[in-house]
Amino acid sequence: MDPAEPRRSPVWPSASSSLVAVIGDPIRHSLSPLLHNAAFDALGLDWVSVAFPVPAGAVAEALAGMRAFGIVGLSVTMPHKHDAARLVDERTEVADHLGVVNCITRRDGRLIGDSTDGAGFVAALRRGGDFEPAGRRCLVIGAGGAARAVVLALAEAGAEEVVVVNRTAAHAVAAAALAGRVGRVGGAADVGAADLVVQATPVGMAAGRPAGDAALPVDPALLHEGQLVADLVYLPMVTPLLAAARARGAQTLGGLGMLVHQAALAVESWTGRTAPVDAMWAAAEAKKSPAGGMRGKPPAGDT
Ligand code: NAP
Repeated sequence: MDPAEPRRSPVWPSASSSLVAVIGDPIRHSLSPLLHNAAFDALGLDWVSVAFPVPAGAVAEALAGMRAFGIVGLSVTMPHKHDAARLVDERTEVADHLGVVNCITRRDGRLIGDSTDGAGFVAALRRGGDFEPAGRRCLVIGAGGAARAVVLALAEAGAEEVVVVNRTAAHAVAAAALAGRVGRVGGAADVGAADLVVQATPVGMAAGRPAGDAALPVDPALLHEGQLVADLVYLPMVTPLLAAARARGAQTLGGLGMLVHQAALAVESWTGRTAPVDAMWAAAEAKKSPAGGMRGKPPAGDT
């Protein structure tokens, strides 16, 4: 497709368009197609991204469809990340380590599974938070899928320590182990000493969650100037925790950057081109603005 050509019907999408998709359940409010299509627009590529609702337990059928239809790439969100890891032909080292796959690329007929959440978070930290994790003390609240990806990525980025604080102790132990010798389980007493505090639980999400102080996963009195407080939740953009952190003089980073950067990594894996992160970010921000139609209702899953 000539980038100068208008990228709209009947020129696009066409019989020669390349197809990528996001699979999950529920999925109809996913931001992934918006982010991918913004990237394809900016790159002038005759590609299109759509969302397929795939019920739990049907990933094998979805991957058979991917092969049959020649779909180039899939983003994978809940509840499919573990099944996808089991069913792809190959996994990257990170996906292998975490046991989850959120991005599949078809290469020479083989389905390669990757986990881009952690790398997406670190990219967002560097770009949006102007924060380099190497040599820094990091603390992660939560020990679920997102937290585990972040713990591993922070350790691989050279963090001095990665402390995991979580409601269920056994989950914290398993998550901290991903960081190897720099990982350990901690508690509220560790918050003050951290250079980076990452909130990686669903606490603070817009819909169906407690509001106000009940939505704070950590005592805000422990936060202070000189820290970066990052929340993986991106709706609302400023969570109760981020508002409290700002009030205490800390720097803050919302979850949208991680979402944009993991989508950018998927685009790069599928197309082999450098992702236009600014265009993807602009599309996400426009959608999230009150006029953009994403009021109150969180997107499905995390992608
Ligand atoms: P998950 O696998 O279900 O893990 C949830 C974690 O949060 C668990 O450690 C759980 O603790 C803890 N938790 C849940 N409710 C809690 C509560 N009321 N109080 C204290 N701890 C609580 O979820 P996930 O996939 O990791 O996702 C976590 C959040 O990150 C979600 O809001 C998701 O939307 C967001 N996320 C954002 C991005 C992004 O791109 N910005 C990417 C991925 C995820 P237990 O171990 O005790 O159960």
